[in-house]
Amino acid sequence: MHVLKFGGTSLGSAAAMKNVKEIVQKYLVKQRLIIVASAMGGTTDLLIEAGRKAAEQNEQYKEILKKIEVLHLETIKELFPIQDQRHILSFTKSLCNELEDLVNGIFMLNELSTRTLDRLMSFGELMSSRILAALFALDSKHSIWKDARAFIKTNDQYGNAAIDFTTTNRRLKELLLEDAHLIIIPGFIGSGPDQSTTTLGRGGSDYTAAIVAAGVDADIMEIWTDVSGIMTADPRWVSNAKPIPAISYKEAMELSHFGAKVIYPPTIQPVLNKNIPVWIKNTFSPSDPGTIIHNESSGGNETIKGISSIHDIALLSLEGSGMVGIPGFSKRLFEALAQEKINVILITQSSSEHSICVAVASSSAEKAMLAIDEAFEREIALGIIDPLFIEKELSIVALVGENMKSHPGISGKMFGTFGRNGINVRAIAQGSSERNISAVISTDDVRKAVNVLHEEFFETSFKQINLFIAGVGNVGKRLLAQIKQQHVFLMEHLRVQIHVVGLINSRKMVFTEEGIKGNWEEQLEQGEDAHLDIFVDRIVSRNLRNTVFVDVTAHDEVANTYASFLQKSIAVVACNKIAAASAYANYAHLKFLAREYNTKFLFETNVGAGLPVIGTLNDLLRSGDDILKIEAVLSGTLNYVFNHYDGSRKFSEVVKQAQDEGYTEPDPRLDLSGTDVARKIMILARESGEKIEIDSIENISFLPPSCMKGSVADFYVELEKHETHFRTLYDEAVAKKNKLKFVATYSKGKASVGLQHINEQHDFYHLYGKDNIVRFTTNRYPDQPLVVKGAGAGADVTASGVFADILRSIG
Ligand code: ADP
Ligand code: ASP
Ligand code: MG
Repeated sequence: MHVLKFGGTSLGSAAAMKNVKEIVQKYLVKQRLIIVASAMGGTTDLLIEAGRKAAEQNEQYKEILKKIEVLHLETIKELFPIQDQRHILSFTKSLCNELEDLVNGIFMLNELSTRTLDRLMSFGELMSSRILAALFALDSKHSIWKDARAFIKTNDQYGNAAIDFTTTNRRLKELLLEDAHLIIIPGFIGSGPDQSTTTLGRGGSDYTAAIVAAGVDADIMEIWTDVSGIMTADPRWVSNAKPIPAISYKEAMELSHFGAKVIYPPTIQPVLNKNIPVWIKNTFSPSDPGTIIHNESSGGNETIKGISSIHDIALLSLEGSGMVGIPGFSKRLFEALAQEKINVILITQSSSEHSICVAVASSSAEKAMLAIDEAFEREIALGIIDPLFIEKELSIVALVGENMKSHPGISGKMFGTFGRNGINVRAIAQGSSERNISAVISTDDVRKAVNVLHEEFFETSFKQINLFIAGVGNVGKRLLAQIKQQHVFLMEHLRVQIHVVGLINSRKMVFTEEGIKGNWEEQLEQGEDAHLDIFVDRIVSRNLRNTVFVDVTAHDEVANTYASFLQKSIAVVACNKIAAASAYANYAHLKFLAREYNTKFLFETNVGAGLPVIGTLNDLLRSGDDILKIEAVLSGTLNYVFNHYDGSRKFSEVVKQAQDEGYTEPDPRLDLSGTDVARKIMILARESGEKIEIDSIENISFLPPSCMKGSVADFYVELEKHETHFRTLYDEAVAKKNKLKFVATYSKGKASVGLQHINEQHDFYHLYGKDNIVRFTTNRYPDQPLVVKGAGAGADVTASGVFADILRSIG
C-alpha cells in the first residue's frame, strides 16, 4: 500500500487535478493506494475569513462564500465531460448550501466558536476530495471516497486536535478491508469524542497522510506539493535554494518545527515510528527526484542540511536573583505555560541561572505573561524576581543538520556571518542533540539572515553584492558599464555577483531587487521622482545582504547620509570627497561607525582617482610602518596648466583651454586656488592618524588675491592683467632648469600646498598629462621613498577605483 497526499496547490485548479490524475494512474496498475486530499489552494483561508466576517456582522462573508462556490463549480465544469457533471455538481452544490447555512448561523448568533470553526474549515477538504474521487470514478470502479472522520479519531481540542491513536489505528485496519484499489479521503479533518468535526492544525493534511500511512503499514508515504522537495531554505526567500536529496526523519522534524512549511511538523512522528519512508515530490514536475526522508542522514559531506525560520515570535525573559540554585524553578515556569497550552519553541537559560528565556508565538505572549506572573506572584512581590519581560517582532532562524555534532565551528560561522551583516542576536539555543542551532533575531533582519546563512553554508562558491548608486554622471556611467562588462569574470573568478538594485540622480530614482538588467538609463528615466530621503529609507529598510552604497556625486546632502548606512552595517564607497574632507569630528565618526558596525567606509578615489594611494598608505600603517613624509602632486588641472604654460601663450589662455577640455571645475579657481589639493593632502594626513582640519593647512597660493573676486568671466580678465606675474614665476623656474609643480606636503603633523620648483632629479619632474604622483617617505622607505604614480583623473580610472572599493567593501 502507498499513501499519497496532494497539497492545496496540487489540487488548486482543474488543470492541476488532471495532472494529479495522470500521476496517480501511473501507480494504479501496480499498487493499492490511499490518496489524501487537501482543500483547493486558498480555500481554508477563505472559509476562516468568511466565518470571521460573519461573526463580526460583516455581510461580505456572502461574497467570500460565493467565491468558494464558483471556484469549485467551475473546476468541476472544466474537469468533467458534460454528461458526467450532474452528480458531482449537485453534490457540491448541496455542500455549498450546507456551508452557507452554517455561516448564516454564525452571522445570526454573532459568534464563532472553535468547534464551529472546525466544522466550517472541514468543507474545503470535503469538497476537494469529493471532486477528486469523482474524477477517478470516471474510469475506475475500484475507487471509493471515505470520510476521514469515520476513522481519524481525536480529542476535542478544536483547531489542533490530538489523535486517539488506539481507536484510529484500529479503524484504519478496518479501512484496509475495503474492496477498493484506490481510496480517496479528505485530509486535515477528524472527529472528536462526540462525533463533532475536528481539525488537526493548519497544514494538517500532511499529518492525516502520516497517520494513515502508519495505521495501514504503508510501504511508503508520498507528499506531492508545489516544490521539488525539501529545499535548503524557503525558496520564496532564497532564489538559490536547492532540493535536499535525502534527509533523516529527525532533520526533517527540526526543519519543519523551525518553519519549513513544506511539511507540517507533527507529520514525521507516526511514520518514523514505523520506519516508513516519506518522499516529497513536485506535482508540477513529477520527474524531479524530490526529497526522501528516511532513517538515516544521507552521510555526505554537508554538515548543514537546511535553514529555516519562524516568524511572529515573542521572547519572554524571567530574571532575578531568586532563581539561582533553587531547583524546580524552570519546572514551574513550564508548567504554567503548559497549563495554558502554550507551545514553547525555544529555551535558553544563562549558566548563572540568573535568567531564563523562552520563545513562544507572539499570539500567546499576553496569555503567557499572565500565567507566569501569576505562577511567580510571590517572588515578584518579594522583589527577588522581576516581572516578566516581553520582546516582540522577533523571528527564529535555525540551521539544521545531523552532522554538525562532529563539526566544530558551525556556530562560529553562523554568528560571524550575522556579525558581518549587522544582524543582532537576541537569544541562542542549540539542541542538545546538536542537530540544530537557532537564534532569535529581529523580524526585520530575518530575510537577510536566511540569505546570508544560505550563502555562507550552501553557496560558498558565490556571493551576491547589492549595490545602490547615487549619481550617474561620467563616473557613474563608466562604473555601470564596467560592472556589466566584468559580470562573467567576477562570477567565474571571484564568485561574486553584483546586483545594481537602486540608482538615483538629481531627478529620478529606480529600484529593482533582482538587480537592474538591460538599459538602466531608460529604466531610470521611467523611474520615480528622486527623493534622497526615500532612497535612503528604502536601502535601510530593504535590509538586503552585502549592501553597498556608492556615492559618485559631489553633493553634500548625499555625503550626509553615510552615517545612516554605516550604523546599519551597510558599506559606503565614496568617490565624493565631501565627507572625508569635512570637519575632523565627522570624518572620525564615520570611521568609528564603520568599525563599530563591522562594515567599510572606503574612499580610495578621493585622492588620485583610481591610483592605490589610500590603500597603500593603509597597508603601510597596518603592517607597522611609520609615515615620515608624504609629498604629492595631486591636481590634474594644475598639472595640465603648468605643463602647457611656457610663455608662448598667455596663462589665461592655457587655463581657458584646460577648462574647455574638461580638466577643471566649472569655476577653475577651485582647482587653481589649491583648495582641492589641500583637501586631498588633509585626507592623507587623517588616514595617517593626524587630527587635522582644513584651516590648519598652509596654502601658499600663486593666484593674486584679486583673481579670487567676482565671476568666472571677471577671473579671466583679472588673469590676463597679471600675465607678468605668471611669466615671472615661469621664467624663474626655467632659469634654474626647474619645472613648476603644485605640490602638497605632509610631515610631522603639518601639511601645506603650494607651487614649487622641481629639478630634473626629482621624481616629480617627469610628470605629464593628467598624472598624479605620491611619494611616501617612511621608516621602511627612508631614502628611496615609495612612489605611486599614474593617471589621477578621468572617468574610467576613477570608476575602476570605485569598483575596486566595492569589491573590497564586502571583504
Ligand atoms: P501544500 O499545499 O502542498 O501542503 P505548502 O504550501 O504547505 O504546500 O508547502 C509548500 C511550500 O512550502 C512551498 O511552496 C514553499 O514555498 C514553502 N517552503 C518553506 N520552506 C521550505 C523548504 N525548506 N523547502 C521547500 N519548501 C518550503
Ligand atoms: N487545508 C488545510 C490548510 O490550509 C490543511 C492542508 O492544506 O494541509 O491548512
Ligand atoms: Mg502543506
